[in-house]
Amino acid sequence: MSQPNVRVRFAPSPTGALHIGGVRTALYNYLYARQQGGQMLLRIEDTDQNRYVPGAEEYILQALEWVGIQIDEGPQQGGPHAPYRQSERKEMYREYAERLIREGKAYYAFDTADELDAMRKRLEAANVPAAQYNAITRLQMKNSLTLPAEETRQHLESGEPYVIRIKVQPKEDIRFNDLIRGWVAVHSSQIDDKVLLKSDGMPTYHLANIVDDHLMGITHVIRGEEWLPSAPLHVLLYRYLGWADTMPQFAHLPLLLKPDGNGKLSKRDADAGGFPIFPLEWTDPKSGEKALGFREEGYLPEATTNFLAFLGWNPGTEQELFTMDELIQAFSFDRVHKAGARFDIQKGNWYNQQYLKQQDDAALAREIQPLFTSKGIQITDEQATKIVHLLKERVHFAKEIVDESAFLFSSPESYDEAVVSKRWNEEALRAIGGFRDALSTYDGDFTADNIKEVLHHTLESLGIKAGKVMQALRLALTGVGAGPDLMITMEILGKEEVIKRLQNAIDRLPA
Ligand code: GLU
Repeated sequence: MSQPNVRVRFAPSPTGALHIGGVRTALYNYLYARQQGGQMLLRIEDTDQNRYVPGAEEYILQALEWVGIQIDEGPQQGGPHAPYRQSERKEMYREYAERLIREGKAYYAFDTADELDAMRKRLEAANVPAAQYNAITRLQMKNSLTLPAEETRQHLESGEPYVIRIKVQPKEDIRFNDLIRGWVAVHSSQIDDKVLLKSDGMPTYHLANIVDDHLMGITHVIRGEEWLPSAPLHVLLYRYLGWADTMPQFAHLPLLLKPDGNGKLSKRDADAGGFPIFPLEWTDPKSGEKALGFREEGYLPEATTNFLAFLGWNPGTEQELFTMDELIQAFSFDRVHKAGARFDIQKGNWYNQQYLKQQDDAALAREIQPLFTSKGIQITDEQATKIVHLLKERVHFAKEIVDESAFLFSSPESYDEAVVSKRWNEEALRAIGGFRDALSTYDGDFTADNIKEVLHHTLESLGIKAGKVMQALRLALTGVGAGPDLMITMEILGKEEVIKRLQNAIDRLPA
């Protein structure tokens, strides 16, 4: 059933290159928004100034554009809820934090780092496993709940640093129905008094996220599973801010797992496996370290999208190839898995192969021409197009066509022994000699169709069945027993080269 005003957001923090898992999160958001005729927002969550990395926001925009995700509202596009960068909304958050204080749902806390440390040590000594600032411990700390009002005022006026913490009420049940995980129930005693506003005046992720999702009219929060533990706190914040009625629905997406399925996918796994986990190449501005990108490694955007869509979702049918429009039609939360999705790059390669096959030969040829040139191979676009046509179904990446075509540019240096002993015989020699002679006198167009005809005529007149000598012919021309279409191969080689290779084989291989 379509809901008229679905609004979703992708809310990355610009702390470095966008991980491919982030692209998948953006994709699921986009699929759902488009399917429901809703809007997709991009919000830059840059409230942690220590982690801000220059260039990261541009990277995110380029990555989304590359995979074909269109943003309706965002820092570049603008929109009714601008600004869409949290650092530019700083003042707004304080208002809400202060409102919570007035209503007794938050409080000022003045504890220094040393005092917090001392509390932790005290609790540890008393065998409290995970020390928390909460309904019990807050009574022993320095905050507006324990200090007389006058002292609190003095602290605030003195300009010394303070934070605002949520005052989590004890004995509250928190329940929400995650679209993927089902009912999640947590008791408020498990939640600590998280900081909402930091001492630098910036909101924490939790406060900013809830305020913005509310103000921006977000209806569905679709994000990675790593945020599931924060969701109960978010539910409380909606409650305390009086926004429970319009709280968005949550959908927490499964993690991306290492190729072997054990644990969360990391950059180290990618480096070890020699595959990218970033959509685009990224050079770390601090270390100068360069990381591989799907785009630069030769993955097509359509293939990447299709591959990502299937990491954590399936359509429930046998169909594996989906255009973006088809994904938009088919997507549903019901079919998003709870279990983590194993990041199998072989599957990604398979997808690339499927989409590569569908590419236009001439366009691919133009794309790989520079690679030929860099290998010292000068060919016309027309020749390159024929080579693409010959080889594109046999590779996963366009660039592999260049390597795979090496046999076209140098005649065989050796011949596969196994094929020689099985196929190189009197009959093959007669056929190949006859074909060589027929070609020498042939002066029509040297096209695959014509070549085939000459060959068949020759074999017919010699009374030899094609099936018995084709592999020997291939061996003579390429040195091996298997490969791409032989007639097209000969067309690309050209008449002279074909005759030369046939003669070479006859001279070098004894019958
Ligand atoms: N800024 C958070 C992130 O970087 C957003 C999490 C969310 O979508 O709520 O992933």
